[in-house]
Amino acid sequence: MALITKKIKGTEDVLPKQSYRWQFVENIMREESRAYGFRELRTPVFEHTELFARGVGQTTDVVQKEMYTFDTKGGESVTLRPEGTAGAARAVLEHALENEGLPIKTSYFVSCYRYEKPQAGRLREFHQFGIEEYGTQSPVADAEIICLAQSVLDRLGLSDVHLELNSIGCPACRAKYNQALRDYFTPYREQLCTTCLSRLEKNPMRLLDCKSPEDHKIAEGAPKITDYLCEECEAHFAQVQKYLDSAGVTYTINPTIVRGLDYYTKTVFEFVTDCIGAQGTVCGGGRYDGLIEELGGKHLPSLGFAMGMERLLMVMDAQGVDIPQPAPCALYIAAMGDAAKIKAFSLLKEVREMGIPAETDVVGRGLRAQMKYADKLGARFSMVLGDNEIAEKKIKVKNMESGAQTELPLDDSFAEKFAGLVLETDADFGEWEDIPPEAINEILKKI
Ligand code: ATP
Ligand code: MG
Repeated sequence: MALITKKIKGTEDVLPKQSYRWQFVENIMREESRAYGFRELRTPVFEHTELFARGVGQTTDVVQKEMYTFDTKGGESVTLRPEGTAGAARAVLEHALENEGLPIKTSYFVSCYRYEKPQAGRLREFHQFGIEEYGTQSPVADAEIICLAQSVLDRLGLSDVHLELNSIGCPACRAKYNQALRDYFTPYREQLCTTCLSRLEKNPMRLLDCKSPEDHKIAEGAPKITDYLCEECEAHFAQVQKYLDSAGVTYTINPTIVRGLDYYTKTVFEFVTDCIGAQGTVCGGGRYDGLIEELGGKHLPSLGFAMGMERLLMVMDAQGVDIPQPAPCALYIAAMGDAAKIKAFSLLKEVREMGIPAETDVVGRGLRAQMKYADKLGARFSMVLGDNEIAEKKIKVKNMESGAQTELPLDDSFAEKFAGLVLETDADFGEWEDIPPEAINEILKKI
């Protein structure tokens, strides 16, 4: 029979044999977020369209071309989130989180939806890990989030990803700069792409971000924002750099980075690599002091970044980073006969309760087929449970790699003794860090 449908273009499945890679990356992000004092915020996958129109900005590619927007049966316009910042800001405002004290430090994992041309590193559904910090103007905060991003990338084992830093100033310095850009680009009007032509009036800085090679070339000679920063923005930028220097974070100043979203002010940054082709930005972020006001709140300076999960995983692949696979099944219990199957099931529960992965037959295989399956699973130990073992209250546990057999009592102490066996053989089978440390402590206390 033919399949009735397949996945939608630009979306991807993460299969069970791949998901450990995602979990490895996500765990590091969770640990680093915690170390830096950020707590997770979860927001809905869809929001009222005007949130993104205002929050992301009317002149952005995202709002102009890329949003999945539709009317509900009730006639409301809703949009699948194209990014995580606007929803987070909405939630912070709606729940008045500023009353709980400043700064507010949140992290998120989101799926995002953008109607873009699917290609390597560019999907229609993709995933981001991000950080949002609200209620601080201080350059320490800028440096803090950049350090966090750097720590995540370091812990993922990535080299060859470099930090590019810029400041795009505040509305005051930007007014002058925008005029300088208009003056620069106007003589090239005929050569600019149509999107850039409309940007020239509304938001000329966006021209620096154009993907068209011709426009990119023209943009190379454009005036640099760093020459137009007001005193305060310049001082802020200098401070950010000082803090980064003190933390040993290296960067290049790149005055052409403007970021894709409208709400940025002052600091903007990207972590970029050359190793996965054209879509080499794995993390983008900066400061957006005007965003909360744009959404109807009081002035609450904020900043953050987002990392593209798929792109990060691509970089890890390209750089041959070895992601540790979770330990396979520790114990396979092959059971013969009805009584043994029932007994196996209760033993299994006790072993699993210690956090040790264990399996038995759930499809009705014969003994030989069960043993073959244990091998296929990569079980570290196996045992054959039949009427004899039940009668004698002891059982032989076989180390599948060395073939060595150890006899264990088949009573209430079985699970603990088996855990002891696992720990004893740790040196040979070194992947047991997957057992949570609390469980290991419990086991060690008992044996
Ligand atoms: P780009 O310049 O690559 O289009 P962007 O400026 O649109 O990126 P952001 O909105 O800042 O990207 O999103 C943050 C990160 O999310 C990007 O750096 C990238 O890693 C990832 N990302 C953005 N769009 C996509 C996509 N369509 N598919 C996969 N990852 C994406
Ligand atoms: Mg984009």
